[in-house]
Amino acid sequence: MLTLSVLCERSFFFMKEAIARISQAIEVSLLSVKYQMQQETLWQAVSDRDCSFEGKFFYGVRSTGIYCRPTCPSRRPNRNQVCFFESAQSAEAAGFRPCKRCHPQSETVLNTTKNKIMAACQYIEAQVDRIPTLLELGSHIGMSPTYLQRLFKQIIGVSPFQYADALRVGRLKQCLQGGEEIAHALYNTGYGSSSRLYEKAPQQLGMTPRIYQGKGATMRIAYTIVPSPLGYLLVATTEKGICAVKLGDEADVLERTLILEFARADILRDDHTYKEWVQAILDLIVRDLPDLDLPLDIQGTAFQKQVWQALQKIPYGETRTYTDIARDLGKPQAVRAVGNACGANPIALIVPCHRVVRSNGSLGGYHWGIERKQKLLAYEAKQSEEKPN
Ligand SMILES: [Zn+2]
Repeated sequence: MLTLSVLCERSFFFMKEAIARISQAIEVSLLSVKYQMQQETLWQAVSDRDCSFEGKFFYGVRSTGIYCRPTCPSRRPNRNQVCFFESAQSAEAAGFRPCKRCHPQSETVLNTTKNKIMAACQYIEAQVDRIPTLLELGSHIGMSPTYLQRLFKQIIGVSPFQYADALRVGRLKQCLQGGEEIAHALYNTGYGSSSRLYEKAPQQLGMTPRIYQGKGATMRIAYTIVPSPLGYLLVATTEKGICAVKLGDEADVLERTLILEFARADILRDDHTYKEWVQAILDLIVRDLPDLDLPLDIQGTAFQKQVWQALQKIPYGETRTYTDIARDLGKPQAVRAVGNACGANPIALIVPCHRVVRSNGSLGGYHWGIERKQKLLAYEAKQSEEKPN
């Protein structure tokens, strides 16, 4: 009996050891998968010159011994010559020299780049009766047209032309609403000859200038921007309710996105009128406010609105998958459409699109940046854990 129990104990010990070894092996292979995925992401960022990765890593090219920022305008190197570094220091410690085009060693370049793009926006805004060319914009801010086009799109979200065009149609709408004579309005806002506008009018105005003029009524939007634990928070309201809640790293980029989205409206900054609403939204970031009932004024298709309502029913501290939402709406096939509706959610936080994740457990996308989604979910999980329930 005694021997048997010793034997059992021994085999139990060996089994435990074997299990430990297997799980260690699994862990190692998981780590290497994670490492591979990370490398792929970084390489993708280099290939796309994705400026949202600026300052987050650097890449070195073994064949040249030079290291660069992910957004460097130089030709993309061969994938197998590339290695990645967390900092300029670590690249230099590994013997790489800084690139003379993107100056990866200097911290100020990022800000300078952003300031240049902002200067380009201001330049576009100042040309009220025409759209400047890329070449002109580039020489104004000292940047090559192609690089400018790419960076502008990454930072502002649309091309310089699309930006100028949205402002132009906004100005035209205001002139028409103000009762200005159509031909004058067209000329003064940079459309030149009226025949050109008549070609574009159906899509941009949704109707002819004359009918548009008959409709009148301008939408008024008040907005404010405040710092929050998740970066800057922009809250915009019409007379009917909140029409936009946005999160971002840069206050002026948020401001410009709003102007672009509501080109037709009169937009004014107002830091006082809706202070309490803004405070309530800030509170939403750090705790559950189940009874919060703010008036909303959101535009969307019937399906989008259904999705947004479904999102508002996800309890604080919990998540659902895109598949769950599609099934709950009685449209199990519409998983992708649900994802698109989440991405189009105009009201961050109040409509908690951050609580929807992929079925495989990964976070999925987030219009306001995946890091913010991660942070929000972590806050919420922590809060609901602490709450005695
Ligand atoms: Zn470079």
